[in-house]
Amino acid sequence: MPHPVSIVVQTPAHSAVAGPLSYLSESPLSPGTLVRVPLGKRETLGVVWDTPPEDAAVATTGELKHTSAVLDGIAPLSSSWRRLVQFAAQYYQRGMGEVALAALPPALRDLSAVQLARRLKRAPAKKAAAATASSADLGKPLSPEQTQVMAELQTQPGPFLLFGATGSGKTEVYLQAVQQLLDADPAAQALIMVPEINLTPQLEERFRGRFEPRYGAASVVAMHSGLTPPQRLKSWLSAHLGPLNGGARIVLGTRMAVFASMPRLRLIVVDEEHDPSYKQQEGARYSARDMAVFRSKLECDMAGAEAGTGHCRVILGSATPSIESWHHSRPAAEGGRYQRLAMPSRIGAGALPKVRLVDMNLQRRKSVFAPALIEAIQQRIARGEQSMVLLNRRGYAPVLACGSCEWKSECPNCSAYRVFHKIDRSLRCHHCGFAEAVPRHCPACGDPDIAPIGRGTERLEEHLAELLANVEHPQGRPVRIARIDADSTKHKGTLETQLAEVHTGEVDVLVGTQMIAKGHDFRRITLVAALNPDGALFSSDFRAPERLFSLLMQAGGRAGRDAAQADASEMWVQTQHPQHALFAALRRHDYPAFAKEQLAERHGAHMPPFCFQALVRADARTQEAAQAFLNQASAAAVEAALPGTDQVTLFPAVPMTIQRVANVERAQMLVECPTRSALQRFLSAWQPVLRATRSHPEAKGLVRFAVDVDPQAI
Ligand code: ADP
Ligand code: ZN
Ligand code: ZN
Repeated sequence: MPHPVSIVVQTPAHSAVAGPLSYLSESPLSPGTLVRVPLGKRETLGVVWDTPPEDAAVATTGELKHTSAVLDGIAPLSSSWRRLVQFAAQYYQRGMGEVALAALPPALRDLSAVQLARRLKRAPAKKAAAATASSADLGKPLSPEQTQVMAELQTQPGPFLLFGATGSGKTEVYLQAVQQLLDADPAAQALIMVPEINLTPQLEERFRGRFEPRYGAASVVAMHSGLTPPQRLKSWLSAHLGPLNGGARIVLGTRMAVFASMPRLRLIVVDEEHDPSYKQQEGARYSARDMAVFRSKLECDMAGAEAGTGHCRVILGSATPSIESWHHSRPAAEGGRYQRLAMPSRIGAGALPKVRLVDMNLQRRKSVFAPALIEAIQQRIARGEQSMVLLNRRGYAPVLACGSCEWKSECPNCSAYRVFHKIDRSLRCHHCGFAEAVPRHCPACGDPDIAPIGRGTERLEEHLAELLANVEHPQGRPVRIARIDADSTKHKGTLETQLAEVHTGEVDVLVGTQMIAKGHDFRRITLVAALNPDGALFSSDFRAPERLFSLLMQAGGRAGRDAAQADASEMWVQTQHPQHALFAALRRHDYPAFAKEQLAERHGAHMPPFCFQALVRADARTQEAAQAFLNQASAAAVEAALPGTDQVTLFPAVPMTIQRVANVERAQMLVECPTRSALQRFLSAWQPVLRATRSHPEAKGLVRFAVDVDPQAI
């Protein structure tokens, strides 16, 4: 007698089926088992789910289909993993199958049962080498602040917000917290999340250096999108096996790693928790940071229920926490839910850099560098020290324009200019990727006088080379300028090489985008300059100041990390608004003051964290259709008096800032609500209405829509 089973599979986006499908299996299957099943004309990967089979939907009309194969070489996914997926799907308004399958390595989806069995046989789990603690780097004696934090981590339940200045030794705290946990419990696992792993190869080295000698070469695995499918499968399997079966003890990964299957997860670290890259920007738009907090609670509940011994701590770390996390870590008496642990001092004698604001209103018009800044950089070079210049715009110039007519380098497919890249003489659209050789003459009037307007990192690098050409380096060699941005690091390994050259001191001035501001432990940089940060001060996105403040604090944090030079380290900011409150807080390195002001502003304006938001984005062939779809769906929600409608505010649809990308028109609608639960109730009830509105006559030409819960960019 075949057994009915519920299985989640990836159904097409926005199909009405968001839950599991019903199948038949020859033998009973426990929840979490991986299977291959027929779906339409394909065969696909599925996960056996807990839902009673009678509640699952039937894929096609007619008879129930049988599962094709059971991947019995892989242990079933745990109940806490299934609950994590279920929660993420519900919260972010996506199909369960979509979330579950996206959380599994692609190779698992693509390999047949036979291929997979072969792969599993080929890579037998190595028993982790015995600890050779003698050869291991046991870590440094902790500073008093680190010691205090470690004590709190051990005795308090968390969740923790580790608010530590740049260079205060947060990473060392993570390392020692992991070590204590893994030493005490041979089955325990830890998950360390970082924003972009390739930006911080140092961190991976530190973890491997610390733990591989201790727990074996297989004890640390990486999980991020830069891995090949076989590598990702290998990491995933190792984490899934767990240390008792010779698998990994530590997973080091980007946002996707929050869904790693780890049988005995006992610690989650979210480093640089404020970083926007923790929010997934397509498919299920989840926040890996928020999922990490939820997962730790879930693992506690589940482990407690199963073994009576469970706990899983979560540490969010940052020198400039997100305003939300900061707010959650207010005193418990005021309603705070996180425990704030502070490490205000830098390790060693190193002081934070002195911040100097340059009033650009007092400089010559259109000057790129204030003369005093150039002089300061020249002095650093003459002393053999390094400088870093931050400009958050890549390419040579953001626009190319004709001198005699109105022509500008607009992208034919987007409402944006194509950026001029001088290196390969191309005009490239950073939104749709459309690229062309730079025309010799103006395409409109034929005038050869077409010129770049504004500047990006490429042009800055060129300009600096001219300004510094006559500076004497103490070693008698020419001054060396390096540029790091998404263009200079396109090829695998180039970023590592470039970073290494900065570390060894071959580079005198490093020019780059935000990529250079994050996480790097540069020892010889004593001057950091931010050239033109003003745009974010008056952005329509209420989070822009928060992002700017953290970028500048992070950038400043790269300076003076070597105690010997720290006293003389400086951060220069060129601005037209030196009196702005953001810069006043920056000058004092005073994140709490900045956060307090932001919170007061947001409280007054009823913005997060004092309300909850979702965005519905619509893509269509015309702007009218995109907006009509949203406005129709909104009107239908009000008319149907959906649950939660009385509490939510539905704003009118508006075009997105960059309205057209790749010939698709984009609009969005903001939904606001004073409580998370009412917003959730409303969104769930609204889904079928949104789907039904697709076929409304006014929405003709709609390409797709997507709901973004807790959007990070408005
Ligand atoms: P953060 O992550 O807060 O920026 P790190 O953990 O990278 O700080 O520490 C900054 C520097 O200080 C690193 O070079 C690190 O090796 C060193 N460091 C950290 N903790 C200690 C300690 N207790 N004693 C000596 N050096 C330390
Ligand atoms: Zn022209
Ligand atoms: Zn384009």
